[in-house]
Amino acid sequence: MKFNIALIKGDGIGPEIIDSACQVLDKVGNKFGHEFIYTDIKAGGCAIDEFGVPLPDGALEECLQSDSVLLGAVGGPRWDNLPGHLRPERALLNIRKGLELFANLRPARLIPVLKEASPLRRETVEKGFDLLIVRELTGGMYFGKSGRYLSKDGETAFDTETYSVKEIRRIGKVAFETARTRRSHVTSIDKANVMESSRLWRETMHELAKEYPDVELKDMLVDNAAMQLVQNPAQFDVIVTSNIFGDILSDEASQLTGSIGLLPSASLGETKRGMYEPIHGSAPDIAGKDMANPIATVLSAAMMLRLSFGLNKEADAVEKAVDDVLASGLRTQDIAWGGPSISGSAMTKALLERL
Ligand code: NAD
Repeated sequence: MKFNIALIKGDGIGPEIIDSACQVLDKVGNKFGHEFIYTDIKAGGCAIDEFGVPLPDGALEECLQSDSVLLGAVGGPRWDNLPGHLRPERALLNIRKGLELFANLRPARLIPVLKEASPLRRETVEKGFDLLIVRELTGGMYFGKSGRYLSKDGETAFDTETYSVKEIRRIGKVAFETARTRRSHVTSIDKANVMESSRLWRETMHELAKEYPDVELKDMLVDNAAMQLVQNPAQFDVIVTSNIFGDILSDEASQLTGSIGLLPSASLGETKRGMYEPIHGSAPDIAGKDMANPIATVLSAAMMLRLSFGLNKEADAVEKAVDDVLASGLRTQDIAWGGPSISGSAMTKALLERL
């Protein structure tokens, strides 16, 4: 099969890690008989330098014409003082909006050989965990009505959490469908004991659950969830939650693995097309030094194979290669913790050999 991938290398270590991911994809293509065709798209700081804007004309159309977008990272100190609409991150916001990507998926899986890195208690780590947070990305508090006014107490500000049944159903569907490809369990996180929007969230999730009798649904209040993630993360399979709760919980969950440099993410919409990217940034401190760990980007490419292209065997092969290479003891400097380390390109070579 042929797939068109829009590549946004971006800034800092972006080009290095995307180059690694493409080598891995090409190896998968050779092994399983697929062709990946890449279109380079300039976005972020490098686009500001060349075109004066973070997302030049035509870039979004290129993304819309692709089967999926693979992104390295954007940004860096050079562009930190620009006004909001000209900052590198604006490119990502505009792509998310343009592609109508309303679901953000972030897996947090404890890689057994790296369990020493987890800040959790030893007995909790021994049980292992493999969870996926599905966060609503385009609604709720971050997009609701907000403002300031003068009340009798002086200057006052407000933000509004708003969710419609339609928005809750579509994010719920992503969670239930994804749970079917995993362990068939969804935990829906809300604050239904206090917030009306959460009560609608909960009712809607229960209605939707009737369409997925093979998937188990559990509710959990967000304050309890924050605690349970630290106490017993093994209980979670798929977590679905609102924009603001997901923002906070997904950062908490990523820290549980102790190695955020290894974590991928996906943003999805109604179509199969998604945007895939590592959760880390452009790491300007190590850019161009061949020190960047390519694994988070390689695992983002694996998510793209699975979720956008339906290539499960191929995604399994990439994930297994990552596990095997780490199990063999090879480490880039970010996960070597003072021990011997190899370069980013040597890590890529090891992954290719393993594949
Ligand atoms: P960062 O994730 O880029 O770096 C934090 C630390 O982790 C640094 O020490 C870095 O060297 C290290 N690191 C990150 N990725 C690594 C990798 N793959 N291999 C080895 N080490 C790695 O976060 P930051 O320093 O806060 O941000 C740097 C720039 O990236 C900023 O301009 C920020 O706005 C941008 N950023 C972009 C995205 C994105 O494009 N999605 C996300 C976060 C931050």
